[in-house]
Amino acid sequence: MKGDGRRGGPVIAIDGPAAAGKGTLARRLAAALDLPHLDTGLLYRAVGRRVLDAGGDPADPAAAVREAEALTPADLARLNLRAAEVDRAASLVAAIPAVRARLLAFQRCFADPRGAVLDGRDIGTVVFPDADLKLFVTASDEERARRRWRELEGRGVAASFETVLADLRARDARDASRDVAPLRPADDAIVLDTTDLDPDAAFARALDIVREKFARA
Ligand code: C5P
Repeated sequence: MKGDGRRGGPVIAIDGPAAAGKGTLARRLAAALDLPHLDTGLLYRAVGRRVLDAGGDPADPAAAVREAEALTPADLARLNLRAAEVDRAASLVAAIPAVRARLLAFQRCFADPRGAVLDGRDIGTVVFPDADLKLFVTASDEERARRRWRELEGRGVAASFETVLADLRARDARDASRDVAPLRPADDAIVLDTTDLDPDAAFARALDIVREKFARA
C-alpha cells in the first residue's frame, strides 16, 4: 500500500498557479490515459460560491466550514463558478485548515480504485504525496494573465488586462503564503513551463514525460 493509503491505479498530480494551463492539460492527459479527472479547484470554488450565496464572508472559518460540510455534487456542476468574485472567495476559503481537511477524503477516494489525474495546488504535496507522477505546470505572470484575459473576453466579460494581472498575482500570493498546503512544487515534481508553449505543445510535452516515466516503472 502507498503512504497515502492507496492500492489502485496510477495517480497523476498536476499542480501550479492560476491560469497556467493545468486544467486543460489534466483533462487531455486523463482522456489519453483513460483515467478519471478531478479539477480540485472546483471544490474550493463551490464552497466559496455557497458562502457568497448565503451572504457570508469567505474568510470567516465558521461560515466556510458550514458550507464545506453542506457541499453536494450538484454544487460542482453550477455554471457560475468561474466568476471573478469566486476566484477570490475560493482562495479565501482554501486558506482555512478545517475546509481543506473536510475536502481531503473526497479527493483521495476519487482516485480509488482506477487511479486518476487530479489538478490543483497541493495534490503532489498533501493529497497524494506518493503520486506516481507529479507535474508542476507554470508560466510567467504576464502570460497567465493574458490567457485569463482572453478567456474572459471570449465569455464577453469586460476586464482590463492590468486588473486581471493584479487579481492573479494577489491570488497566487495568497495561495503560496498560506500556512496550510501552500502552493509550491513537490520536491519530486517535474516543472513544465508553458510560457512559450501552446496547449497542443504543452500536452505533447506532458505526454512524453508520462510515457518516459511509466516506461521506466
Ligand atoms: O484551480 P482554480 O484556479 O480553479 O482554484 C481556485 C482556488 O482554489 C485557488 O486559487 C486555490 O486557492 C484553491 N485551491 C487549493 N487547492 C487545490 C485547488 C484549488 O487551494 N488543490
